[in-house]
Amino acid sequence: MIYSIAIDGPAGSGKSTIAKKLAKELDFIYVDTGAMYRAIALWALENAPDITDEEYIASRLDEVDIGIDYIDGEQQVFLNGESVTDRLRLESTGDAASKVSKQVRVREKLVELQRRIAKKTSVIMDGRDIGTKVLPDAFLKIFMTASPDIRAKRRYDELVMKGKECDYDEILKGIKERDHADETRAVSPLKPADDAVMLDTSDMSEDEVAGRIMELFEEKKG
Ligand code: C5P
Repeated sequence: MIYSIAIDGPAGSGKSTIAKKLAKELDFIYVDTGAMYRAIALWALENAPDITDEEYIASRLDEVDIGIDYIDGEQQVFLNGESVTDRLRLESTGDAASKVSKQVRVREKLVELQRRIAKKTSVIMDGRDIGTKVLPDAFLKIFMTASPDIRAKRRYDELVMKGKECDYDEILKGIKERDHADETRAVSPLKPADDAVMLDTSDMSEDEVAGRIMELFEEKKG
């Protein structure tokens, strides 16, 4: 039996940490779809005169090969054969990803790749449109939320831990802007699927969130 668990939610809701953890426990593959949009954004930043020029980017998308591989269970992303995993998490790449992810052809290309992966193997896939668009028949759908302040605080703590200089208010502003862009775009806006389980993680620890999803999965399996 091939299972799929869809986890959607806004930036900083804790999706990827939880999804990675669960994937290890369940021995599923973790598919980080945000990383794919970030990889296309990197390509666009280097190759398009204007990353919001949808027509131009669409006309060259056939030249963009996004490859996914797993090393020790960690997703690696390749852009035209070159590993770009380490460059994806930059704030500037996230902002650019939010811009290219509005574009219909970009979405079509990545949705197809995401579906292909989920057909072959059991996955936990996180993103914005997994339950609504990519895997509408997912075995379990979770929509994870947390207040913008909590998400900004988590991001701030994570950066401070890494020794990076950052400003809480700037991070909060960025999170709110990204929420707005993701929720109001015309194609596949961020919203819960009708059959998604809502999970507000504001006052939950990582272990509590992972435990709750495990419970839901086991319950469904019967
Ligand atoms: O999740 P992450 O922050 O890596 O995603 C980067 C951007 O890619 C998001 O702000 C969102 O605009 C876009 N995205 C998307 N659909 C997905 C995953 C990410 O539109 N399934």
